[in-house]
Amino acid sequence: MKKKALAVALLLSGTLAFHGQAFADEYSNGTIQGEALPNVVHGVNQQASGSPKAPWQDASLTQAAQAANAGNTGNSGNGNNGTGSNASVSNSSSNAVSSSESSTQGATTSNAPLNVQNGSTTPTYTDSTIGLGGASITMIKGEQSGQQISIVIESNDGSLIVVDGGLKTNAPYLAKYIKDRGGKVAAWLLTHPHEDHVGALAVILEQQKKEGHPDYYNIDPGQIYYGFAPLAFYEQYEPAHRIPMMKEIMEDLAQYDSAKRHESSPAGTSFTYGNVAVEVLNTPYSIPIDSGNNSSVCYMITINGKKLLITGDLPYEAAGKLMEERGADKLKADIVQMAHHGQHGGSFAFYSAVNPRYALWPSSQELWNKRKDAFTEDQESYTVALTKFWMNKLGVEKNFVMADGNWVLK
Ligand SMILES: [Zn+2]
Repeated sequence: MKKKALAVALLLSGTLAFHGQAFADEYSNGTIQGEALPNVVHGVNQQASGSPKAPWQDASLTQAAQAANAGNTGNSGNGNNGTGSNASVSNSSSNAVSSSESSTQGATTSNAPLNVQNGSTTPTYTDSTIGLGGASITMIKGEQSGQQISIVIESNDGSLIVVDGGLKTNAPYLAKYIKDRGGKVAAWLLTHPHEDHVGALAVILEQQKKEGHPDYYNIDPGQIYYGFAPLAFYEQYEPAHRIPMMKEIMEDLAQYDSAKRHESSPAGTSFTYGNVAVEVLNTPYSIPIDSGNNSSVCYMITINGKKLLITGDLPYEAAGKLMEERGADKLKADIVQMAHHGQHGGSFAFYSAVNPRYALWPSSQELWNKRKDAFTEDQESYTVALTKFWMNKLGVEKNFVMADGNWVLK
């Protein structure tokens, strides 16, 4: 069934810019021909660079990944890629690339612009085929051209659950979006303290304390769930430019209503709003490689029986640890938020466990278009093409990409 869908998707993509022959060429360039699944590039690099080998790494590898590891030619990956939140650039919302791959265009897709106070014309695409029972998942691009994670889930009873919130510059857009839907957030889930995730919330919390702030900041952020590694740990292992944002959000949260603050909730913590149930999957890991991303807290969100896995920027190492802690079965989901915007995130073994039908890519246009340099010697750059390859291999039926605009799944 999935293979058939994949074949159809590939067939359809032949007429469009992405995939088609170009895509095929990239995957037969010798580097990964023979399906030497390069999800192990990360691990190889880690050992080569002298980093300590964490105990969960071997245990978390599936047979497939081990086989791939054996076939790996020793590409040097970079565990701490710095694809940043401020990636900038192209902002063409007319791109139909991703929807083509997923064949989401047509009857279920509309592009009526969100009615935002400042007149933004960011297109909003809707796919109504998921079966969320009156609930919706919205991945917000807002007015951003960089990458971020800003997802709002609305339950069938109108409760709002926000995931991360995105860049600082996304704060006005997100606040207006929430305000337009009643202004009250039920639960706000943070993954990790990088600016493209917690920036918007920091701005909202800070603006609320300032005199004369715009009215759209008068919203209730609700119950905030978060968990970070210790600041001292980040200070030791994160790039210095990351630290101010971490301190900022930690201070903002420390000043937030303690009755609505839920720090490092134990794995298994769960709560329900309408037909949306949220489960916290892990407390943050302190891993001295890519430490901010590796401290991502993951959430399994069940909506009308359909599961959405939120991964934040979960890299290879933490993905392995999460699989070991929770068991692969526990990670099975219908929809996955692609880890780390679709590059240097998760592993093939991890996504095999999730085995999603639908993929949410919180990827900028710039990142999404990265292809040619994915397997050059400059391995520290981009692996998004590799991740696409994994998703194709797993038979994902639809890929929704933030670069296109806002995406609403129903
Ligand atoms: Zn990120």
